[in-house]
Amino acid sequence: TNAPPLDWTRCFFRRLLPDLPAVMHRHYTLDVAAPLLRTQGYVDGRWISAASVFPVLDPATGQELARVSDCGPGEAKQAVDAAYKAFQSWKGTTAKERSLLLRKWHDLMMLHKEDLAKLITFECGKTMRESIGEVMYSSSFLEWFSEEARRMYGDIVPSPFKDRKILQLKQPVGVASIITPWNFPSAMITRKVGAALAAGCTVVVKPAEDTPLSALALAELAEQAGIPAGVFNVVPSSREKTPSVGHVLCTDPLVAKISFTGSTATGKVLLKLAADTVKRASMELGGHAPFIVFDSADVDKAVAGAIASKFRNSGQTCVCANRFFVQSGIYDLFLEKLGQAMDSELRLGHGSDPETTQGPLINVRAAEKVVNQVSDAVSLGAKVLRGGKRLEGSFMEPTLLADVTTDMLCTREETFGPLLPVVRFNTEEEALAIANASNVGLAGYFYSQDVSQIWRVAEALEVGMVGINEGIISTSEALFGGVKQSGLGREGSNHGINEYVEVKYMCFGGLKL
Ligand code: NAP
Repeated sequence: TNAPPLDWTRCFFRRLLPDLPAVMHRHYTLDVAAPLLRTQGYVDGRWISAASVFPVLDPATGQELARVSDCGPGEAKQAVDAAYKAFQSWKGTTAKERSLLLRKWHDLMMLHKEDLAKLITFECGKTMRESIGEVMYSSSFLEWFSEEARRMYGDIVPSPFKDRKILQLKQPVGVASIITPWNFPSAMITRKVGAALAAGCTVVVKPAEDTPLSALALAELAEQAGIPAGVFNVVPSSREKTPSVGHVLCTDPLVAKISFTGSTATGKVLLKLAADTVKRASMELGGHAPFIVFDSADVDKAVAGAIASKFRNSGQTCVCANRFFVQSGIYDLFLEKLGQAMDSELRLGHGSDPETTQGPLINVRAAEKVVNQVSDAVSLGAKVLRGGKRLEGSFMEPTLLADVTTDMLCTREETFGPLLPVVRFNTEEEALAIANASNVGLAGYFYSQDVSQIWRVAEALEVGMVGINEGIISTSEALFGGVKQSGLGREGSNHGINEYVEVKYMCFGGLKL
């Protein structure tokens, strides 16, 4: 009765595609120290089983890594109740106490960074180098918010009345529901939870079905760090149970806040659910990042930035450059150098193989989406300069398309895969118009050495984050968030903690001064 449902799509494709690279038939073992390989939910400081389990698969090979408790609405409610109970005491701890616990949690992540990285590589497919990078990035939010906890200042406002003093006090909102995607199985949790716990909130985390192991390892380390029972809860669930778990997390009256990272479509569903009880909401949603290369750019730097921004995590980050606009004067040179760089720098394989730079996509559906965008572009006149084919399972060749136009699917929707489509443009106005013709606006990038143009374009791009002559911009010190349908609120930075606080006005009257 505990048998996990088989993912037939994955299995079928593994058998159907004949030109499978030999590396995919090797057996890769996830060897991680036992306490970090947790498979039960974590509620109120206890590891809990559910009525059934679901499998976690290695997206590179389809091999099963573990079977994880499939928590449903009952477990979600238990977690909310535990978080609410724990909130009553956690909110009374001093900022310094919370700060020290977060710092301890960060230190434990550093101590176990290799194992945490292996979990990420095996459940999400990214290379070990990127997974180590994610663990560093992820833990940096615990460190950053351990510092921010002690700087949650309110205000004393100059009063217009002689007998009154005006204070504005920051207080934690309460229980926060945290729903996260598979593409950063660790960092998307700490970016939210670090801020929430620092502010004095307690949390219930629902990780993605594909990647619950990193979330559960974080729970193990939270416990080791001494985070009190009920403050940090994790309810893993299968895709079948997710809507009912999400319903509890977004509608229960004891939940004060929801914070979600994932697709714009899911974000809208959750916002509607949260509306009935008027919960605070932070939404980090999909992107469709433009990457503009002007004639004045340093072409080599633009090529390096394009490779870094496009092919990180095989193109599966919300801030990955998605649409490339290159000015006519350097269009041919840029394409030539980019093709050469792709040939020499990109290598497909299992993420745990040290030579690999490109792992698989998260599942077959993701690879099909990319191939569909390639066929659509080719049918409308685009040229394939590199790649273009789907390989075994969810592997996809890094692909470079030239002569792309703005009516093609790949310039109209987020790809979330290793496809680099290049559109030629003539003027700055034209580039800005096509870059801004999108209903989302998360990140945007451009390369130029003209200072006036840099100011003009950076201000005019309709996005929440701009990389100027830089393809990788995320860091805990700087804010993260988008405009338009890319979301609501900001994470990281000095702004992130404000997503978890209410500001209360206190008026002290009748004073004899
Ligand atoms: P997704 O399908 O929206 O899933 C994200 C999370 O939401 C998963 O945990 C998923 O659970 C859960 N979920 C789905 N339906 C739900 C429901 N009805 N109730 C409660 N939870 C629900 O997104 P994805 O495809 O995994 O992630 C890729 C998207 O995320 C891309 O669009 C990307 O741009 C965006 N993203 C944005 C950021 C950012 O910071 N802006 C960062 C990373 C990714 P299951 O896994 O169980 O379905």
